[in-house]
Amino acid sequence: MKELTADMKYYDYYYEAFSAILSGFVGEYEVEVVDANAEDGRKHWEKKYGLKAFSPIAKNYPYSHYDDFGQSRSYGFARNHLGNDLMGQVGTPIIAVEGGIVEALGWNQYGGWRIGIRSMDSKRYYYYAHLRKNFPYQLDLKVGDKVQAGDVIGYLGRTGYSTKENVNNIQQPHLHFGMQLIFDESQKECNSEIWIDVYQIVRFLNSNRSEVVKNLVTKDYSRVYEIREQEPEGSE
Ligand SMILES: [Zn+2]
Repeated sequence: MKELTADMKYYDYYYEAFSAILSGFVGEYEVEVVDANAEDGRKHWEKKYGLKAFSPIAKNYPYSHYDDFGQSRSYGFARNHLGNDLMGQVGTPIIAVEGGIVEALGWNQYGGWRIGIRSMDSKRYYYYAHLRKNFPYQLDLKVGDKVQAGDVIGYLGRTGYSTKENVNNIQQPHLHFGMQLIFDESQKECNSEIWIDVYQIVRFLNSNRSEVVKNLVTKDYSRVYEIREQEPEGSE
């Protein structure tokens, strides 16, 4: 194979493209399941294979969206919309689509309060923006934390479009969800970043939504059913 492809400069990227998205979405995992006939709601672990990524919107919370990838945006400078906007109510718990490491957490003038999470194999960067004013994030979350697919990471809001922090300048409350593919680390922040149209992915993930419960003291939410994933090869 190496000889046949020696002249193909970008062959390694073709090879990687196949697994660039799905390697973090499908695989073996264990999930907590409520025992049959359990009156006390006791749970046990079950092994499964299949879709292990979650919708970015928690179970039982309504949202609407359409394919708005590439539409023009004018705040700051003329540019294209590199994600999918999910309209919902302020405070809707936002869920980690795939597990990974929290790489960015804080204010930026476009995304407002936002979270950036890098997949464990470092090939995918997830961007969740316009989170809620005053209470944007799951309370314990900080840069460097490891999250699992399905964890509550923050709350839907309408912050952003301001150089000043904690300002609601977005008209309609929504989650901006973006997904960047990174084949080479030099692509992470450059003029040719690869942000993909995630609309069909979000539709697909609607079949797997994380159920959440509120802590009445802290007003923070957390998932009801934990999952355990195998680490991808080459991570850590
Ligand atoms: Zn958006």
